[in-house]
Amino acid sequence: MATRRLPHLLKTLDPFHSATKERAINTLVSEHTAKWMQDTSKKSPMELISEVPPIKVEGRIVACEGDSNPALGHPIEFVCLDPEKLALCKYCGLRYVQDHHH
Ligand SMILES: [Zn+2]
Repeated sequence: MATRRLPHLLKTLDPFHSATKERAINTLVSEHTAKWMQDTSKKSPMELISEVPPIKVEGRIVACEGDSNPALGHPIEFVCLDPEKLALCKYCGLRYVQDHHH
């Protein structure tokens, strides 16, 4: 019985069939996202993070750790700053801006 199922199993692992698998995963992801977007009374994480004012920093590079709790899984991300431009941490979305001293 097990040997009979094996060819079928190999077929599912076939890279030529991965497009179907990918489509199935995409459907799952969009359903999952839709579930969380139903409640419009709450703000989305992106809306919440955009309300945090940009953090002024001295120098051209800032090391972002997100929250002070390392258990939250934010690796140290070095963000390079351009003058007069907001820079975004790609992990947590915090915004940084260079603080000028004239
Ligand atoms: Zn960050």
